[in-house]
Amino acid sequence: MEAEMRSQFPDGHRIPRFAGIATFCRLPHTRDLQDVDVAVVGVPFDGGASYRPGARYGPRKIREVSALLREYNPAQDVEPFHWLRIVDYGDTAVNPASIEETHALIEADLDPVVRAGAFPMCLGGDHSVSLPLLRAVARRYGPLALVQFDAHPDTWNVHFGRRYTHATPFRRAVEEGVVDARRSIQVGIRGPLPHATDLEDARALGFAVVSADDVARLGITETLHQVHERASGPVYLTLDIDAVDPAYAPGTGTPEVGGFTSREMLALVRGLAGLELVAADVVEVSPPYDHGDITSILAANLAYEVICLVARRRRSVSASRSANEEQRP
Ligand code: MN
Ligand code: MN
Repeated sequence: MEAEMRSQFPDGHRIPRFAGIATFCRLPHTRDLQDVDVAVVGVPFDGGASYRPGARYGPRKIREVSALLREYNPAQDVEPFHWLRIVDYGDTAVNPASIEETHALIEADLDPVVRAGAFPMCLGGDHSVSLPLLRAVARRYGPLALVQFDAHPDTWNVHFGRRYTHATPFRRAVEEGVVDARRSIQVGIRGPLPHATDLEDARALGFAVVSADDVARLGITETLHQVHERASGPVYLTLDIDAVDPAYAPGTGTPEVGGFTSREMLALVRGLAGLELVAADVVEVSPPYDHGDITSILAANLAYEVICLVARRRRSVSASRSANEEQRP
């Protein structure tokens, strides 16, 4: 079905992709949420990171390298800019000297996006930013199913004696009732842990935990089957780039060997079609540790694939609506 172009996506043959201000996919930067379907929101904060910093530069770099993304996605057979009005909402406010204040600022800045009914496609930032994003999204949709791709469960109680860090957001989210752990799943977990009980702690909170080795054994299709079995109702997708192997995504704060290839990560995201996605983030991209922008390019593509999932959902809703109209006498 042919749709008119809802986004103001510039013609790459008239305005070359290296030209202009670097917004996500060179889309308009605006805070006007009228008729917006997807708002790309940067969250430039890395005060929650414990090892390598630099994720504060993630949103800016992901925007820059997103210039090469194009109108048609053959892997999902969809034209996202035709089906969706997508804008670059800019960055949330942050306070680099305070996690707690930053969380309040992020939540306040995301609130109007969620209330307007737009899908927030957020670009981190370290993983601590997911907690205030979840809070804002859960206010509209209720407790969310979390689909988390990550090398780490991020469910510690405290880190360096602190409750709010990039190692603790999903324990807090469960405690606060913004994530329903029984509908949630963590995929790609691996690497040495400080405590033998860390994975059991995540499971005791209610999460299903699928390790990177489990995925290697099960395969992508069966892994996706488990995700779909689990994630009912409104879903928040959180994509920690360290789920991907550091050979493909070295520009990150806490690299762990033995992760997904870029192609496996793309297949896992594309396979989420059919879930009721209401918001997503791509986090932990640290450009200073990157090489040739490979991590940022992957992150930009993953955000694009998520937006394509939203576009497919829109297309199927619109197709069933017009089928219903045809059936009317
Ligand atoms: Mn994480
Ligand atoms: Mn991680």
